[in-house]
Amino acid sequence: MKAVRIHEHGGVEKLKYEEAPEPKISPDEVLIQVKSCALNHIDIFIREGLPGIKIPFPHILGCDISGVVADVGDGVRNVKAGNEVLVSPGVTCGRCLECLSGRDNDCREYQILGAYKIDGGYAEYVKVPGVNVIPKPGDLSFDEAASIPLVFLTAWHMLVTQAQLKVGEDVLILAGGSGVGSAGIQIAKMIGARVIATASTEEKLEKAKALGADDLIHYTQADFAQEVKRLTHKKGVEVVFENTGQETWEKSILSLARRGRLVTCGATTGYQAMTDLRYLYSKNLVLYGSFMGSKGDLLHLLKFFEKGKLKPVVDQVFPLKEAGKAQQRMEDRKQFGKLVLEVS
Ligand code: ZN
Repeated sequence: MKAVRIHEHGGVEKLKYEEAPEPKISPDEVLIQVKSCALNHIDIFIREGLPGIKIPFPHILGCDISGVVADVGDGVRNVKAGNEVLVSPGVTCGRCLECLSGRDNDCREYQILGAYKIDGGYAEYVKVPGVNVIPKPGDLSFDEAASIPLVFLTAWHMLVTQAQLKVGEDVLILAGGSGVGSAGIQIAKMIGARVIATASTEEKLEKAKALGADDLIHYTQADFAQEVKRLTHKKGVEVVFENTGQETWEKSILSLARRGRLVTCGATTGYQAMTDLRYLYSKNLVLYGSFMGSKGDLLHLLKFFEKGKLKPVVDQVFPLKEAGKAQQRMEDRKQFGKLVLEVS
């Protein structure tokens, strides 16, 4: 089969479009003919290499997959060959206390498809555990279906499970043009919150508005913490949705109202953020970390795609062999929403 693989860490030039062996499934696995695979920042982190984490080479990236079931292991009952599906990106043990309690994103054996040890969807075929295969919601295209899992799962877990955003609250969504930001705007609006979104260009701000953002901040032209104070009459927001890290962290803390909650899922601009503890204790602030979401969360939120209340946001589609170009667009932060590789 054709695949894009990396044989060593480095820049986009390390992504090699080449022939690779087709995966062999075990009885609890499903072979999927990949139609579309969406990009995520983790693809770049894995390609570049993370300190202390070794991955087996050659490796196939890609955690957000949609496609058609090509073959099914003897022990799999939930799908058949020919079914159109999408794939839950978290692979877990399925037997520990966390897995059995519906908190499988806390499983100690948690792995993300295409990250670390498991090959992902930058390929014509991928094998995945049967429990990770979900029917594709009705009218969505394969490109749209692949654009859902990781970012909507992450944004859902951040806003619903962790920060428990409530109707009528003010929420600041940072990087509203990112995949997770565009998901966060939609989920926050659906909950009934007032959404203040930041982005780096007028074009992205317009798109954020079209997704439902109530107020917009051009963060390269204005101090977003000051803008938040102005927009909330000095109160600050009840929830900050952080996904950028080092560059924005201090201002994110300053943007919070008393008893405000900051929830973070990532640090695309760096990990070494400074926290002025005086704000944390004197304003009764709460900080939440947030990692992925449970398989149950994904099943739950997919219902809103069937009803059209949430919509995948596809920025641009590239053929598989142009994975490098697609990753470069993400590195340059040019996209609004998801970049997708069309595989077959
Ligand atoms: Zn487990």
